[in-house]
Amino acid sequence: MQHIASRKTRFIIIISVLLIIGFSSTSIISYFVANNSLDSYIRTNSLPLTSDNIYSEIQRDLLPTIVISSLMAQDTFVRDWILDGEKDPEPIVRYLKSIQDRYKTTTAFFVSDNTHAYYHSSGVLKQVNPSDPQDNWYFRIATLKSDFEINVDSDTVNSQQTNFFVNHKITDYKGQYLGAIGVGLSSEIVVNMIEFYQSRYNRQVYFIEPSGNVALSGKQYQGADTIHRTPGLAEIATQILVTPGGSYTYSRDGRDVFLKTRFVPELSWYLLVEQIGNPESHIQKTLWVNLALSSAITIIVLILANFTISKYQQRLIIMATKDKLTDVDNRHAFDPAFQHAIKNAIRYKEPLSVVLIDLDHFKMINDEYGHIIGDTVLTNVATILKNNLRDSDLLCRWGGEEFMLLLPKCDLEAATLLAEKIRLKIEQETIFTQEQSIAITASFGVCQYTIDESQDAIFNRVDKALYNAKKLGRNRVEQA
Ligand code: GH3
Ligand code: MG
Ligand code: MG
Repeated sequence: MQHIASRKTRFIIIISVLLIIGFSSTSIISYFVANNSLDSYIRTNSLPLTSDNIYSEIQRDLLPTIVISSLMAQDTFVRDWILDGEKDPEPIVRYLKSIQDRYKTTTAFFVSDNTHAYYHSSGVLKQVNPSDPQDNWYFRIATLKSDFEINVDSDTVNSQQTNFFVNHKITDYKGQYLGAIGVGLSSEIVVNMIEFYQSRYNRQVYFIEPSGNVALSGKQYQGADTIHRTPGLAEIATQILVTPGGSYTYSRDGRDVFLKTRFVPELSWYLLVEQIGNPESHIQKTLWVNLALSSAITIIVLILANFTISKYQQRLIIMATKDKLTDVDNRHAFDPAFQHAIKNAIRYKEPLSVVLIDLDHFKMINDEYGHIIGDTVLTNVATILKNNLRDSDLLCRWGGEEFMLLLPKCDLEAATLLAEKIRLKIEQETIFTQEQSIAITASFGVCQYTIDESQDAIFNRVDKALYNAKKLGRNRVEQA
């Protein structure tokens, strides 16, 4: 029976290993597949698309200010007024005011190279001074190769406020430098624009200058003020700044960040759109749910398997060790019980006896009354035997109409007495059928186990004793 139990354990272990491997591998594989396809979707689809969208929205939102500045620089009235010697500030101030009102910019200005006067929509503000760091921007414009520059700087009127300035060169009809003209938007408007993109697309959006300095960013921007010092980005900063546009992946705080860059020639800035990999933590949640479900199913399957196997196991054991007709143990049950009894007999120096019983002329009963009556006789005899035994005794159906008794703590005399008692009971038992009553008898061989005797030897002896009982006339008990 032991090997059945160990097989069961092995079977349960194999099932659990298979289930665990099967479930966890499918969960984990699908997790990685989902993750990868999401990553590649971000990299190849959603991020470039966002970048394009933001780019076109920037063109719509910011580029008009460049166009306005460019128109102002081309304006013949402005040029003529400057060339005329800037006699009366009133017309230019009015002009600047109308531009500011018409296009809803925060400021409109002109700085003359001739007089260094700073004209503003509200009047002549001041004289720009090369030694004032606040006026550095103006003296830079004169040396500029391109027609304009974009500058994020504090407002000249209200130094608390930061503006997004488009500073455009203005020249006379021969290309002679006359000064700088343009408009400014409150950077708040621009930052709000960026925040709007960020919240609309759920990405981090910011601009960097060709030097790598961050030109404009939203309020929640997390990097350093130059990408050369932003962790993770620093390593690819040079590559970003020499490529007009590209897709990158870098690692920040242990998470993948997908980055799409694009040079915006109108602003001379790079637009950077970033997305942190796998924000869809529900994929991870799905993995945990999957694993929890798998574990639950595994446990349920194991409990069911264990239960079913145990039930069948018990049934098998019963089928293997019980006699169907008489419901007593069969010969298979005898061997282990006998070995166990011998061990105890030796250890505790106790006697041990066996009794072999064979019904007399049973063939005749079968022949005369039929097999079914014969079966009834056998069951009756088994019941008589059962009723006269102790719990520690073992009763086996040995063969057709033969029974074997194993009697621990019972010497030859006691075993003979018991056999005699049973013999009498069987003799007195009468089985009634519809027509007649059947009397039966049995013969007994009794034998006590002697130390170091083999199983075969004791069976031989008890068999001989029974043979003697038959030879001496049946319905009697004989000792070996
Ligand atoms: P003896 O006194 O010498 O033992 O005579 P016997 O007729 O009992 O001798 P034998 O051992 O030759 O016959 C046993 C018979 O028991 C033969 C067989 O038909 C019958 N038998 C064995 N098993 C069963 C059973 O399960 N049911 C029935 N009805 N008969 C059985
Ligand atoms: Mg027989
Ligand atoms: Mg017989």
